[in-house]
Amino acid sequence: MSKKTTKYIFVTGGVTSSLGKGIISASLGMLLKSRGYNVTIQKLDPYINIDPGTLNPYEHGECYVTEDGAETDLDLGHYERFLNSPTSQNNNVTTGRIYQTVIDKERRGDFLGKTVQVIPHITNEIKRRIQILSKENYDIIITEIGGTVGDIESLPYIESVRQLRWELGETNSMVIHLTLLPYLSASGELKTKPSQHSVRQLMEYGVQADVLVCRTEHKIPKDQRAKLAQFCNVSASNVIECLDLPTIYEVPIELRKQKFDEVVLNELCLPVNGEPDLANWKDFLKKYKNPKKSVEIALVGKYVSLQDSYKSISEAFIHAGASQQTEVNIRWVYSGDLENGNVEEILKGIDGMLIAPGFGDRGIEGKIIAARYARENKIPVLGICLGMQVITIEFARNILDMASANSAEFDSATEFPVINLMEEQKNVTEKGGTMRLGSWKCTVKAGTKLYDAYGAKNITERHRHRYEFNSDYIQEFEDQNFIATGKNPDTGLVEAVELKDHPFYVGVQYHPEYKSTVANPHPLFKALVVAAAEYKTNK
Ligand code: GLN
Repeated sequence: MSKKTTKYIFVTGGVTSSLGKGIISASLGMLLKSRGYNVTIQKLDPYINIDPGTLNPYEHGECYVTEDGAETDLDLGHYERFLNSPTSQNNNVTTGRIYQTVIDKERRGDFLGKTVQVIPHITNEIKRRIQILSKENYDIIITEIGGTVGDIESLPYIESVRQLRWELGETNSMVIHLTLLPYLSASGELKTKPSQHSVRQLMEYGVQADVLVCRTEHKIPKDQRAKLAQFCNVSASNVIECLDLPTIYEVPIELRKQKFDEVVLNELCLPVNGEPDLANWKDFLKKYKNPKKSVEIALVGKYVSLQDSYKSISEAFIHAGASQQTEVNIRWVYSGDLENGNVEEILKGIDGMLIAPGFGDRGIEGKIIAARYARENKIPVLGICLGMQVITIEFARNILDMASANSAEFDSATEFPVINLMEEQKNVTEKGGTMRLGSWKCTVKAGTKLYDAYGAKNITERHRHRYEFNSDYIQEFEDQNFIATGKNPDTGLVEAVELKDHPFYVGVQYHPEYKSTVANPHPLFKALVVAAAEYKTNK
């Protein structure tokens, strides 16, 4: 059987950053997938870091981890949550990675004495990275180009798109340009000029947009739509309006109303058969918008002033909440604020708590105080990664009489290193890509809350950490009802813990939030929401 032709969709952005290219790409991907197409989405990031793994979350939001252990841009989280299919290292490429590959080749002598240049060597590598995914038999690859058209950093990417369009042929690729229509309240008008300019700028680079998606606070009047079409060389039906919506999960529905998916399929000369199957998605939205109850969950972390730092966690609460028809209100708590003897005041009234992942010792003592408050007041808790380490330290200090217990991350000389550096991390000096990363097996102990949540013995979950529960102490913990509930079947590493005599006090060394999608809300988030609702009823 001859290999089918893969079609390429390039998504560029104009006028300003932060217009939501990731959500538009994810929404389009979801609509096409609902029509039976095999779709994946890729993000090209024009920065020089090899990956976002070494970036402070304040710089770029959360670092999202894939099954194969790639540390990636948070947009990949949106892709997975919308498409319900895993991404991989190939779905996120940075300028740093492109250059590293080209420079490594140069050092090996692969260029046979040639001068190595942006054109053609860097652009060839970009094109190769875009096309790598076609080996996986996708019908459609959506490639989101980070940054804004006109940025110096984006130029090699736009040039690669130009070349690829030419090489692949008109009907095998297309460009969607996302732009902003600013609204001038003084004159009561939406302005099209910035969009015209950004489309023209794209044209200067030899790339013609086929579809315009316009972010706007007001509906686009007919004459403005005609103007955009005329001056941007697209047909009026290819001007898609994207109004601000109460939730990102409504975006695909609104885009479908304007037949965005059909416009795209027509451009790619692919058949439009019937309607996309959006029944489950609509059901999710209905439940999300019509909750029967509500809970308030404290998210205790240290990056709370930039909520994108915890994107997958807050989205996982949306999925889990909708599945239970429960509105989950997050109380964002900066753990450092709990260090002044005011825990009661800050946490009063919560129904549940999530202790967030993180690195470094800022705010750690506050997290430990929060853990104690929840343990003593029987408030449901889920501790993720560092959060699990924190509940372990708190228990050691306050129940096991190990007053100076700590993680070796924060006190390398502690007498009680209940959280210790993993054996394979001991000789690691480089920071990038060197943690325990990606999907690992876990065996769940029967008769535990963890088992109740998953309803399964063998699970896999994604990791991103250097430290682990120190198994030398397991007996002392278990003697006091703090038990290991999940273990790696090959190494015996403790992957999950819980307190027996507490309604829900669960810690996991892995990151369940990365696997939560609209179609598959994560069982542990569901369990926390259910436990929080019960706590609220009984209080
Ligand atoms: N800093 C901790 C470790 O490296 C926890 C990491 C995390 O929360 N992702 O083990």
